[in-house]
Amino acid sequence: MVQILTDHGCFGKYLRRIEREESPMCHECGAPVDTARHTLEECPAWGPQRAILQTKVGADLSLASIVKAMLDSEEAWKAMASFTDEIMSQKEAAKRARENDPNAHPLRRRRAGGRARRYARLLPPP
Ligand SMILES: [Zn+2]
Repeated sequence: MVQILTDHGCFGKYLRRIEREESPMCHECGAPVDTARHTLEECPAWGPQRAILQTKVGADLSLASIVKAMLDSEEAWKAMASFTDEIMSQKEAAKRARENDPNAHPLRRRRAGGRARRYARLLPPP
Protein backbone atom coordinates (compact mmCIF):
# COMPACT_ATOMS: atom_id res chain seq x y z
CA MET A 1 0.00 0.00 0.00
CA VAL A 2 2.89 2.34 0.78
CA GLN A 3 4.19 1.89 -2.77
CA ILE A 4 0.87 3.09 -4.19
CA LEU A 5 0.50 5.95 -1.73
CA THR A 6 4.06 7.27 -2.24
CA ASP A 7 4.60 6.41 -5.96
CA HIS A 8 7.91 4.85 -4.87
CA GLY A 9 7.93 1.20 -5.79
CA CYS A 10 7.53 -1.25 -8.59
CA PHE A 11 6.40 1.31 -11.20
CA GLY A 12 8.17 1.92 -14.50
CA LYS A 13 8.68 5.65 -13.92
CA TYR A 14 10.24 5.07 -10.49
CA LEU A 15 12.37 2.12 -11.67
CA ARG A 16 13.62 4.25 -14.57
CA ARG A 17 14.48 7.08 -12.16
CA ILE A 18 16.55 4.77 -9.93
CA GLU A 19 18.14 3.28 -13.07
CA ARG A 20 16.72 -0.21 -12.78
CA GLU A 21 14.79 -0.01 -16.06
CA GLU A 22 15.69 1.50 -19.41
CA SER A 23 12.16 2.81 -19.95
CA PRO A 24 9.31 4.07 -17.73
CA MET A 25 6.75 1.99 -19.66
CA CYS A 26 4.11 -0.22 -18.10
CA HIS A 27 4.99 -3.88 -18.61
CA GLU A 28 1.40 -4.92 -17.99
CA CYS A 29 -0.31 -2.91 -20.75
CA GLY A 30 2.41 -1.16 -22.77
CA ALA A 31 1.42 2.38 -21.70
CA PRO A 32 4.40 4.75 -22.15
CA VAL A 33 4.62 5.64 -18.42
CA ASP A 34 3.80 3.44 -15.43
CA THR A 35 3.14 5.25 -12.14
CA ALA A 36 1.20 4.47 -8.98
CA ARG A 37 -1.68 6.49 -10.41
CA HIS A 38 -1.57 4.53 -13.70
CA THR A 39 -1.63 1.28 -11.73
CA LEU A 40 -4.44 2.40 -9.45
CA GLU A 41 -6.70 4.24 -11.90
CA GLU A 42 -5.91 3.34 -15.49
CA CYS A 43 -4.01 0.15 -16.23
CA PRO A 44 -6.39 -2.27 -17.96
CA ALA A 45 -4.45 -5.21 -16.50
CA TRP A 46 -6.05 -4.55 -13.09
CA GLY A 47 -9.63 -3.89 -14.22
CA PRO A 48 -11.30 -6.70 -12.25
CA GLN A 49 -9.42 -5.88 -9.03
CA ARG A 50 -10.19 -2.16 -9.52
CA ALA A 51 -13.91 -2.88 -9.96
CA ILE A 52 -13.95 -4.74 -6.62
CA LEU A 53 -12.06 -1.90 -4.94
CA GLN A 54 -14.52 0.66 -6.29
CA THR A 55 -17.46 -1.17 -4.75
CA LYS A 56 -15.87 -0.43 -1.34
CA VAL A 57 -14.21 2.98 -1.77
CA GLY A 58 -16.37 4.55 -4.50
CA ALA A 59 -15.70 5.40 -8.12
CA ASP A 60 -13.25 8.23 -7.41
CA LEU A 61 -9.80 6.66 -7.13
CA SER A 62 -7.88 9.86 -6.42
CA LEU A 63 -5.64 9.39 -3.40
CA ALA A 64 -7.53 12.09 -1.47
CA SER A 65 -10.79 10.24 -1.98
CA ILE A 66 -9.35 6.79 -1.22
CA VAL A 67 -7.58 7.94 1.94
CA LYS A 68 -10.79 9.58 3.15
CA ALA A 69 -12.74 6.37 2.45
CA MET A 70 -10.06 4.33 4.25
CA LEU A 71 -10.28 6.56 7.32
CA ASP A 72 -14.09 6.47 7.30
CA SER A 73 -14.50 2.73 6.95
CA GLU A 74 -12.55 -0.34 7.97
CA GLU A 75 -14.09 -2.16 5.01
CA ALA A 76 -12.62 0.43 2.62
CA TRP A 77 -9.24 0.15 4.37
CA LYS A 78 -9.25 -3.63 3.97
CA ALA A 79 -10.34 -3.38 0.32
CA MET A 80 -7.44 -1.00 -0.45
CA ALA A 81 -4.98 -3.22 1.45
CA SER A 82 -6.18 -6.26 -0.46
CA PHE A 83 -6.08 -4.45 -3.86
CA THR A 84 -2.56 -3.13 -3.29
CA ASP A 85 -1.23 -6.44 -1.88
CA GLU A 86 -2.52 -8.43 -4.84
CA ILE A 87 -1.41 -6.04 -7.55
CA MET A 88 1.97 -5.10 -6.12
CA SER A 89 2.87 -8.74 -5.45
CA GLN A 90 2.06 -9.56 -9.09
CA LYS A 91 4.06 -6.56 -10.35
CA GLU A 92 7.00 -7.55 -8.12
CA ALA A 93 6.90 -11.18 -9.31
CA ALA A 94 6.91 -9.97 -12.94
CA LYS A 95 9.84 -7.63 -12.17
CA ARG A 96 11.84 -10.50 -10.59
CA ALA A 97 11.17 -12.63 -13.68
CA ARG A 98 12.48 -9.80 -15.91
CA GLU A 99 15.56 -9.37 -13.70
CA ASN A 100 16.31 -13.07 -13.79
CA ASP A 101 16.04 -13.26 -17.59
CA PRO A 102 19.58 -13.93 -18.84
CA ASN A 103 18.86 -11.68 -21.85
CA ALA A 104 17.73 -8.77 -19.67
CA HIS A 105 19.15 -5.30 -20.21
CA PRO A 106 22.15 -4.88 -17.83
CA LEU A 107 20.32 -2.09 -15.94
CA ARG A 108 17.53 -4.46 -15.13
CA ARG A 109 19.60 -7.50 -14.23
CA ARG A 110 19.69 -8.46 -10.61
CA ARG A 111 22.98 -7.44 -8.99
CA ALA A 112 23.60 -10.90 -7.69
CA GLY A 113 26.42 -11.34 -5.23
CA GLY A 114 26.90 -7.72 -4.14
CA ARG A 115 25.41 -8.27 -0.73
CA ALA A 116 27.27 -11.56 -0.33
CA ARG A 117 30.60 -9.88 -1.25
CA ARG A 118 29.98 -7.02 1.20
CA TYR A 119 29.19 -9.56 3.91
CA ALA A 120 32.29 -11.61 3.08
CA ARG A 121 34.50 -8.53 3.64
CA LEU A 122 33.18 -8.27 7.20
CA LEU A 123 34.31 -11.78 8.07
CA PRO A 124 37.72 -12.34 9.73
CA PRO A 125 40.41 -13.78 7.44
CA PRO A 126 40.58 -17.59 7.39
ZN1 LIG B 1 -0.47 -0.45 -17.54
